[in-house]
Amino acid sequence: MSKLRLATLWLDGCSGCHMSLLDTDERLLELAAQMDIVYSPLVDTKQFPERVDVVCIEGAVSTEEDEARLRLVRQRSGLLIAMGDCAVTGNVPAMRNPLGAEAMLRAVYRESPVLAPQIPIEDLPRLHGHALPLHRFVPVDLFIPGCPPAADTLFAALAALIAGTADGLRLDTRFGA
Ligand code: SF4
Repeated sequence: MSKLRLATLWLDGCSGCHMSLLDTDERLLELAAQMDIVYSPLVDTKQFPERVDVVCIEGAVSTEEDEARLRLVRQRSGLLIAMGDCAVTGNVPAMRNPLGAEAMLRAVYRESPVLAPQIPIEDLPRLHGHALPLHRFVPVDLFIPGCPPAADTLFAALAALIAGTADGLRLDTRFGA
């Protein structure tokens, strides 16, 4: 049997969900025997590959770049997991939503006591007006809440996918969605 092709993606999150994945510790070796990590902040691949079986995504969608990456990843992945509360609900990044992006930038970069008040824009992705969870943009197959989700929960989910025991989930349903 060929190995499961797993990817992870980091959008607007603090990396805590990825740290929780690493907290599976030696059980990572069990997973590694049955899956290849083909794209992730944890590995050195530069381009998101075609035909990924499972992608776990941390973070909300906060910028135009986040949205473009999410849509590409959705097209190239069989099963998409929202990993952690930022991906599931918006969570911490969404705390700026009541204020709005422009007012938030003004408050942080112009109205706070800083040495040279200016709003950084050069080479930065344009902010969306609101930080939103993944399912507001693309179909999500599995939600794993928690801030971060417990390592045991992440391990159980991946182990179930590998074993083919995750109820109702097929790995090939969403290519091109
Ligand atoms: S859910 Fe919590 S741990 Fe995960 S990226 Fe968001 S703030 Fe960080």
